[in-house]
Amino acid sequence: MKTAVIGYPRIGSNRELKFATERYLKGQIEQSELLQIAQNLRKEHWVEQDNQKIDYISSNDFSFYDNVLDTAYLLNIIPKRYQELQLNSLDQYFAMARGYQGENGDVKALAMKKWFNTNYHYLVPEVDDQVEISLNGTKIFDEFQEALDLGIKTKPVIVGPYTLMKLLRFTGTLTYQDILDDLINGYLEVIKKLRNLGASWIEVDEPALVFDLSDKDIILFKEIYTKILDNKGSVKILLQTYFGDIRDCYQTVLNLDFDGIGLDFIEGKENLTLLDRYGFDQNKILFAGVVNGKNIWKNEYEKTVSLIEKIKNNVNKIVLNTSCSLIHVPYTIENERNLEQIYKNNFSFAQEKLKELFQLKVIMRIGKGHSYYVDNLAFFKEPNNRTNEAVQARIAALKKEDFIRLPEFEVRRQIQKEKFKLPILPTTTIGSFPQTKEVRANRRAYRNGDIDEQTYAEFNHQMIKEWIKYQEEIDLDVLVHGEFERNDMVEYFGENLDGYLFTENGWVQSYGTRCVKPPVIWGDISRVRPLTVDYAVYTQALTKKPVKGMLTGPVTMLNWSFPRIDISLAETTLQLALAIKDEVLDLEDHGIKIIQIDEAALREKLPLRKRDWQSEYLDWAIPAYRLVHSSVQADTQIHSHMCYSEFDDIIQAIEDMDSDVISFEASRSDLTLIDTLNRVNFKTEIGPGVYDIHSPRIPSVEELERVLTSMLEKLSASKLWINPDCGLKTRAYPETLASLKNMVEATKNIRTKLQ
Ligand code: GLN
Ligand code: ZN
Repeated sequence: MKTAVIGYPRIGSNRELKFATERYLKGQIEQSELLQIAQNLRKEHWVEQDNQKIDYISSNDFSFYDNVLDTAYLLNIIPKRYQELQLNSLDQYFAMARGYQGENGDVKALAMKKWFNTNYHYLVPEVDDQVEISLNGTKIFDEFQEALDLGIKTKPVIVGPYTLMKLLRFTGTLTYQDILDDLINGYLEVIKKLRNLGASWIEVDEPALVFDLSDKDIILFKEIYTKILDNKGSVKILLQTYFGDIRDCYQTVLNLDFDGIGLDFIEGKENLTLLDRYGFDQNKILFAGVVNGKNIWKNEYEKTVSLIEKIKNNVNKIVLNTSCSLIHVPYTIENERNLEQIYKNNFSFAQEKLKELFQLKVIMRIGKGHSYYVDNLAFFKEPNNRTNEAVQARIAALKKEDFIRLPEFEVRRQIQKEKFKLPILPTTTIGSFPQTKEVRANRRAYRNGDIDEQTYAEFNHQMIKEWIKYQEEIDLDVLVHGEFERNDMVEYFGENLDGYLFTENGWVQSYGTRCVKPPVIWGDISRVRPLTVDYAVYTQALTKKPVKGMLTGPVTMLNWSFPRIDISLAETTLQLALAIKDEVLDLEDHGIKIIQIDEAALREKLPLRKRDWQSEYLDWAIPAYRLVHSSVQADTQIHSHMCYSEFDDIIQAIEDMDSDVISFEASRSDLTLIDTLNRVNFKTEIGPGVYDIHSPRIPSVEELERVLTSMLEKLSASKLWINPDCGLKTRAYPETLASLKNMVEATKNIRTKLQ
């Protein structure tokens, strides 16, 4: 048995690529220096994989920004607006990724989207009517040659034509039929050139095959690959899939002339059944994804070996593979100096996963008597201290009623109207105010032990005072404290919950040069102390207006952390929900009567196949949210906030969250969502953001009045809240102050008109 890796983290063990790219983009280093740093990193990564005797090492998994963009660029799918900039090729590429504003013009970036069910984001290629698909770049060839010069013969990897077709966007009149032949020829050119350079294998990544496929999709896929495989020549083609199973096209795939098929046996829950049911073509090699490319946990060899043995029942030639690219995990556990060894022993990041592949290969050759196997078996038999009896007991005691808030919506709505006596079209914000240099410096100083807790808190109190004064001055109705104590909406809560662990260096690329460091859910979660009560109480004491408490919801906590795999996601989410519930009740006890529970990342783990949405996700995610607020008094008002307005298709689930008010991003989506809300008779009051906080632009009073008026054409004034579309932490002072002031003024003008 041999081993393979789909892709390796390119950002560098200490995020060297990120920092070098940022320096280059700021004009602090020359392009040649950036290219040199990139080349060194590629070398380091290939050599590392070679040292672990990986048999099929990828090239072209490197990227300065994103592999989908690389592929579009390679095939000259470059919209006219970037061509017109007349930049050198790397700068043109960066212009597509980030937009360009300078001597040569002013253009926006390509759109960015979530990459399948990960927190990585790709750039959406745009096909305009001027497109001429042909071979443009040389990156894939150069990198293959570069590795070859080091004595490492790689398998170049490229995003496949079917997936590219599914992800790209047509901005003119062309449709996919118009570009299909050129696209196929483009790929054939790439294949031919790689073949001439001496490549034996080429990996084409087709993760889009794990979606629900229609007959038309399958026909398209077949058409593309029949042509490619008929004309590819002697080079071998590996069709690589990941993030799920390929139940809709397994037989089609078998019948095509691929030399290798890559299946994910971690997330592809039906792949094993497909092998059993339809067998395998013994002329092909199966690249079996058995080492999880997404999680950070040590591989349990007993389970994996048993999985491989099951695969062997149907397949003769197996290569042990990662389940997806390793860009979704941090670089190496070696970089964690603060984490205790007993925890570290449980982790496996990218570098450690290479070792696992190697060890599994050895075990499959020598047998289970090998110390690799024996030691691993013993390790997983040791008790690991993740369980908290009290938490378990609470979960076991949960009853149906715990998930239902009473009295029902309309009854408590009237009670709340009586209590708060808010004006019609109440105004508020989403929680955070600008995180200035000073705010961050204060947190850093406290964290580093340079200042004591009192000094730290005093600074925050000062900020809160300033902002309460401003909010009162402009006459907002529901105020917030501003979140100056929070670095991040998940990390802040995680740090104050038992069961979480934090890494120093567990960075994962999110998009471009942006990396995130998700906290790790290690064990049963519980709240050990109040998280937000002090600041909320402090703030409420400063004003007669209601102050909104601000919490992160359980589903977002889960989705932006590395979850456990020894218990279900559903159970972990319930634990998180109970912990946050404690906080909700504590806030309520302390007189905070409006509480917002943010679910910014609710959609993140929505299954890729629509038919699994309900049973595999929403059926537990939504009840977990309800559990958080089900026990509050009728006169406590529960708000929720979600970042994307993309919930046309899960509108019922949003309603089932049973919040009293929900705010979301709407300023950029033509208010189409409001039609959906009306169609389903949405009962929850709503705050569709009235301006876009992602840009420093200040909306004028007139403009905001127009927005409000158009909203009121569709929505009853009694249900509408007025707020920006997200938190203001990324904004600067001037635009924040001006925009909020205009927002309140516009609202008042509209109120007068309504009366
Ligand atoms: N309350 C958070 C804030 O205002 C919400 C952030 C978010 O939606 N991502 O920053
Ligand atoms: Zn948001």
